[in-house]
Amino acid sequence: MKSILLHICCGICSSSAIEKLEQDGFKVSGLFYNPNIHPEEEYLRRLETARTVAGILKIKLIEGVYDQKNWLAEVKGLENEAEGGRRCAICFRMRLEYSAKMAKKRGLNYFTTTLTISPHKNTNWINEIGRAVGQDYFLEYDFKKKEGFKNAIDFARRHQLYRQNYCGCIFSQMKTRLTEQSERKPEAEFDPSLRYRVVSLRSNSSEGFNSQDALDIKDVKGYNLRRFAP
Ligand code: SF4
Repeated sequence: MKSILLHICCGICSSSAIEKLEQDGFKVSGLFYNPNIHPEEEYLRRLETARTVAGILKIKLIEGVYDQKNWLAEVKGLENEAEGGRRCAICFRMRLEYSAKMAKKRGLNYFTTTLTISPHKNTNWINEIGRAVGQDYFLEYDFKKKEGFKNAIDFARRHQLYRQNYCGCIFSQMKTRLTEQSERKPEAEFDPSLRYRVVSLRSNSSEGFNSQDALDIKDVKGYNLRRFAP
């Protein structure tokens, strides 16, 4: 039986992808490697959900490192990109490169990713990046096809799994919060030009950021946005 490493971006997205790969005759191992996720509490919550799904569907789950510091360094300068822009391309590449290395290291035949299950993500881009970093190791899938996304949501409801409301990084989290804020406040009180950038990063740990570390984030006028960072 051929083996495949499935990069898992979050637990709820993985169920229907695992089922699809097993239907296609693969022995599936999961890999949770997502240094983009902020804050650490959210990372641990999504990891725990991935563990739960792996347990239910009886697959092995490999846990990657949480090197958020490297991720932030990679996307520096792209903080204001819209979702689906250049920051996301780097975010996909980083996760797929790590998955390719891990598949080779573990002697698995192929690797792929659950990222294509999201209706908000560009499947062609993800598969292109996967091919570029993994060549023949990478198998192209579009897991949202044949109701893959709906099935994953149904599975999450049935098993009462945690479902996040933002993509993962601090920038997507802030965008969600700003959107929620704009929906709550009268338009006049909300500044639609509010933009932000990371001005400095400080971590006390060589392992990367955790919730105690300082993340100084300011908007273009220098207004401190740390209140949006947990
Ligand atoms: S929005 Fe999502 S895909 Fe894009 S950089 Fe942030 S976590 Fe990565």
